[in-house]
Amino acid sequence: MPSTNARPVVFFDRDGTINVEAGYIRRVEDLNLIEGAGEAIARLNKAGVLCVLTTNQTGAARGYYPESHIHDLHARLTSLLAGHGAKLDAIYYCPHLSPEEGGEVAPYNIACNCRKPMPGMIEQAVAEIPDLDMSRAFVVGDKSTDVELARNSKVKGVLVETGYGQRVQAGEYQWPVQPDFQASSIVQAAEWILQQLKN
Ligand SMILES: [Mg+2]
Ligand SMILES: [Zn+2]
Repeated sequence: MPSTNARPVVFFDRDGTINVEAGYIRRVEDLNLIEGAGEAIARLNKAGVLCVLTTNQTGAARGYYPESHIHDLHARLTSLLAGHGAKLDAIYYCPHLSPEEGGEVAPYNIACNCRKPMPGMIEQAVAEIPDLDMSRAFVVGDKSTDVELARNSKVKGVLVETGYGQRVQAGEYQWPVQPDFQASSIVQAAEWILQQLKN
C-alpha cells in the first residue's frame, strides 16, 4: 500500500515529447522545448505530481559524443524548464545499446534492462524515490516503445502526437499502439492526467 504521502508520478520521455525532435543533438543550443511543455510540467509540479525523466540516449554508445554531453543536454533542458517555473524531480537515462542494435562504444555497448521499453529506469525510480504512488502513475512519450514501457510497468500510457507520434499511428515508424490516451502534445497530456487524478 502506498503511504499517505504517496504522490502521483509522470515518467516523461524527452525527445519529441518535452523538446523538439531533432535527431542526435550534438550542439546543446539545438535542444529546444516543444511549445507549452514548460507550462505543462509547471502545472503538474504545482498539483504535487512528480515529474521524472526516463529517456533512451544512445549517442554515446554510437560514438557520436561522450556521455558528459548527455549531462550538458540535461542541464540545458533543466534551465529552459526553469524559465517556465517547471522542474523535473529526477532524471534517468539509458546510455546503452547492444552490439546487435548498433552499439559500438564500451562500456555502453551492452544489452541492459533499462532501455525502453524495458522497465529498468522506472524500477530504479521506484527504488530511489520515496512516496511514488505507482497506482497513480503515467508514462508520456511519442514512440511505441514509450507506450510499451507503460504496459511493462503496469501504469497508464499516453502517446503524444508530437515527435514520432503521428508516424507511429500512421504505421510509418515502429508499430501502431493503443495508448490509454492519445494527446496532441504534452499540454493535452498534462490536462488529461490532471483530470484522471481528480476521479
Ligand atoms: Mg521520444
Ligand atoms: Zn540501459
